[in-house]
Amino acid sequence: MKQADRQKPGDCLRLANLQRQIRHLAKEKEALILVHNYQRPEIQDVADLVGDSLALARAAAKAKARMIVFCGVHFMAETAAILVPGRPVIAPEPEAACSLADMVDVEGLLTLKAGLPDAVVVSYVNTTAAVKAESDICCTSGNAAEVLASIPQDKKIIFTPDRNLALWAARRAGREVIVWPGFCPTHEAITLDDVRAAKAAYPEAKLVVHPECSLEVAEVADAVESTEGMVRFCRTDEAETYLIGTEVGMLYRLQKELPHKRFYAVTGHAVCPFMKLTTLDKVLEALKEESPVVSVEPEIGARALRAVERMIEVGK
Ligand code: SF4
Repeated sequence: MKQADRQKPGDCLRLANLQRQIRHLAKEKEALILVHNYQRPEIQDVADLVGDSLALARAAAKAKARMIVFCGVHFMAETAAILVPGRPVIAPEPEAACSLADMVDVEGLLTLKAGLPDAVVVSYVNTTAAVKAESDICCTSGNAAEVLASIPQDKKIIFTPDRNLALWAARRAGREVIVWPGFCPTHEAITLDDVRAAKAAYPEAKLVVHPECSLEVAEVADAVESTEGMVRFCRTDEAETYLIGTEVGMLYRLQKELPHKRFYAVTGHAVCPFMKLTTLDKVLEALKEESPVVSVEPEIGARALRAVERMIEVGK
């Protein structure tokens, strides 16, 4: 750990004070705080629910709260806004984008669709509302294979935007897919050399990686799982030590839920710069101001909702 990353006692008190204020205000304002697994530990600790995209989307869909505060990246808050139209969804950090979501655009997708008019378009949830609106069904890393398997055998399938997830899910589902060439730079930064070095350091550890990692990394893993799947796998698996190949924020959740086991990152370089933009100060400010509210154009939201609702139903 670098000197700059260490918390000083004064910092801990300040963070604890911010956390108290956030929880107090969330109760007063009937706000539900949803937090993605890749967020900073101190943000995870103020959550009503910590989870992956699918778990958080399902929680948003069922939410009775007056407003949702979404700590993640923009497409996630947008998905929640699609699911609860008419109720404010607040994203404390408006600059939290996603490199992968930015790799597919509506114009490009429409051009591809025009050449394959009968193909079913499956879009990973890491897409904008506008791309979801042009898709038949969305998926997450937790149900991508099930979504592919749910599509009639005689249909061609376009999968956007993550090429690694597309190929992994296609293999599991026994389907062929037309792959959009997008990728997550954070997950592709996890290399085979990193895996070899980590295994040399912890030879007894099992390797668990996310399907956004490259196929060559996924092929040498003991398990390829979504972040929720990682929690389930490590809880029931008999090993005591794991090498985790995903964004490093996941280690906090794993260690917190399974304190009797040990978790190590395959590489400390797998840090999503967008996920780390949200801070407790920004969450508190957002709750006080009830802003910034994420908005989706109603016509786009209504079309995107069909694809998102189908995603939520598959693998329930
Ligand atoms: Fe997007 Fe990758 Fe960051 Fe996830 S880790 S939010 S896919 S850039």
